Amino acid sequence: MYVGALKAPQFKAEIVIDGTDKVAIPGLINCHTHLSMTLFRGKAEDEPLSTWLEQTIWPLESKLTPDDIYQGALLGCLESIKAGTTTFADMYFHEAQVAKAVDRSGLRAVLAQGIIEADDCKRGERMLAEGIEFAEAFNGYGGGRVTTRLGPHALYTCSPKLLVQTQEAAANLGIGTHIHVAESKQKSDWVKERYGCTEIELLKRIDLLGPDTLAAHCIHLTKLDMQIMARHRVKVSYNPTANMKIGSGIPRVKELLSAGVSVGIGTDGPASNNNLDMLEEMRFAALLQKTKYMDPTVLSAQQTLKMATIEGARALGLERVIGSLQVGKKADVVLIDFSSPHLKPSHDPYANIVYSANGADVDTVIVDGNLLMQERHVKTLDANEVMQNGQRVASNLTSR
Ligand SMILES: [Zn+2]
Repeated sequence: MYVGALKAPQFKAEIVIDGTDKVAIPGLINCHTHLSMTLFRGKAEDEPLSTWLEQTIWPLESKLTPDDIYQGALLGCLESIKAGTTTFADMYFHEAQVAKAVDRSGLRAVLAQGIIEADDCKRGERMLAEGIEFAEAFNGYGGGRVTTRLGPHALYTCSPKLLVQTQEAAANLGIGTHIHVAESKQKSDWVKERYGCTEIELLKRIDLLGPDTLAAHCIHLTKLDMQIMARHRVKVSYNPTANMKIGSGIPRVKELLSAGVSVGIGTDGPASNNNLDMLEEMRFAALLQKTKYMDPTVLSAQQTLKMATIEGARALGLERVIGSLQVGKKADVVLIDFSSPHLKPSHDPYANIVYSANGADVDTVIVDGNLLMQERHVKTLDANEVMQNGQRVASNLTSR
């Protein structure tokens, strides 16, 4: 795979793909998800975050086996490839199983084993130790396509003491962190009551804010929080569909961007979305901001596509490796088929991609120069087998 002018006459491609009526874009980057939650798709509907988590999701998660997580992750990898995602940032349990699914599927990922203390410091320490063990063992796995982080779940599930230890461990390993921040007003109010400050102020106090901090959601922020985030070069994953579905609120992305904060886009888990379609996510990302500010000029189609590609790469610390079609970067490329009626005419390809296309328009997916899907046929996974196994483990899980 080569990007640039075709100068060298000796250059001969092994595979030639006809790009007629197709548009090449950098592979889409999903900055925040929990891939194996494909198994819970449609299982926890129309519930507020605390009920969704505590009464539905956590009891189901306590029953998950490593194989369930592997099958759920494979289903998520298949869905991601089909919708043009080439890289995703994930936080979950038994993350080694997700790494194996990533390796098999050919995708690229930034993985973190989730750490939930839940007022049990022994459990917190054990989960941190497991998170460190995973991060060390799998950084550079899958031919270098997997990088790792530490994944403390949130400020309402991890104590400041554990978060300090987590940050120290991440610094020692030279890796970043991935955490949920200010998603729910109720949880942000709880932090304020318990610690006397905002979530961002608390994270600053315990030194967990830096250029390698990936903060998912960031809805309930003050102006000062945004300035602190910009100063510490914190990265944000904006997850519009999950925020709408759980009724968490609307992140003030326009203000975050003007404060100088890098923002990527994520789907969050398939139990709160309910899919992993980054083309659909871009559309909601732009429309929700226009609605929030009652201003159609906020988040143009071009700016939104950048957030799902190069800005997403920046949010994951991979902007020198992926995120744009450029000489010297890894060949993560997606071809979108523009031959359907809803993509005609094409006055503005950015507008067609962000406002008219969806995941089913993705024709070809290439990661690291390898062809993962061509003409919608996934080459690295047996789609029927992956879907049947996903259905089987999900049915067993909910009947156990
Ligand atoms: Zn999440």
